[in-house]
Amino acid sequence: MKCAVFKEPYNFEIVNRDIPLAGKGQVLVKIMAAGICGSDISPYTGRDIQRRQPGIIMGHEAAGIVESVGEGVTAWKKGDRVAVNPQIYCEKCIYCRTGAYNLCDNMFLIGSSKRVFLDGAMCQYLCISDKQLLSLPGNVGYNEGAMLDPAGNAFRVVRCGGVGVGDTVAVMGCGAIGLIAIQTARIAGAGKVIAVSRSDRKLGIAGEVGADVCINSGDAASAERRIKSLTNGKGADVIIDAAGFADTYALAVKSCKKGGAVVALGYGSTHINFPLTELIFKEIRLIGSTGFAAEGEMVLEYLSKGLIKLDKIITGRFPLEDIKKGFDKLIEPGGSEIKVIINPN
Ligand SMILES: [Zn+2]
Ligand SMILES: [Zn+2]
Repeated sequence: MKCAVFKEPYNFEIVNRDIPLAGKGQVLVKIMAAGICGSDISPYTGRDIQRRQPGIIMGHEAAGIVESVGEGVTAWKKGDRVAVNPQIYCEKCIYCRTGAYNLCDNMFLIGSSKRVFLDGAMCQYLCISDKQLLSLPGNVGYNEGAMLDPAGNAFRVVRCGGVGVGDTVAVMGCGAIGLIAIQTARIAGAGKVIAVSRSDRKLGIAGEVGADVCINSGDAASAERRIKSLTNGKGADVIIDAAGFADTYALAVKSCKKGGAVVALGYGSTHINFPLTELIFKEIRLIGSTGFAAEGEMVLEYLSKGLIKLDKIITGRFPLEDIKKGFDKLIEPGGSEIKVIINPN
């Protein structure tokens, strides 16, 4: 099978390897689609290289067809269409045992070398534990199925924020997760959804996927005034930060209403300065959100019902041989890609 091995920044090598054998409790999946995540792009450019060390096969956003099953697997059979949950969880820790497997004490990710060096899905076949698969509804394509992980994150961040009927929700950052969170906030009952980004092109897509108001945050003070004026001077009920920079978190707490919630999902760096007094004296709830648990099944159900639209978000598709083109498209200055999917088969 063909595999795209990450050799060094800006370079992949397409190599031939034996198709792995599904061991006990494992399923061999023929990979039809694998998305490129922002967390893959930084190491590609040489940043955060410990997350994707050279020699690794990247890819944690994947969907495909069951090719064969190992001993003891009864839930899946050859030909089943599946989406991959890339968060390998242990089933033993207290969080797994209480259903919060996105918080698993022993979690690691496929296509990552952060905790454990584990190859991912930028190759033709992937062997994975049977518990990591979700059934892909018949009317959901593989490219859409590969969006399980970013969409799961988007669903969770909206649920963590407790978005309710009539709320005004501002989403900072219009990458794939932000653009799905805009749609999810609407499903949750938001009365007004405000998209905030520095990119007018991304704001254009935000409008197409359902944002009521799109604000360019190039001028942060005027963005704050805009959000306040849209909410009778109060500020938004819930702010979702899917960008993750000091200025977006500052804008988030400044434009959140008193007693409102700021949900933190994005992180451009591990430590961020933001105006703490805004948080304290406005009694803002600051909430973290990571990965997804029960949201996985929800995403597939909502995709199947056509309630989440990904056609404007999946902007590029490339065969495995052209993986470098896909990555290069994503880092092009002023480039137009949001989500690029690699199709290995
Ligand atoms: Zn990802
Ligand atoms: Zn666990």
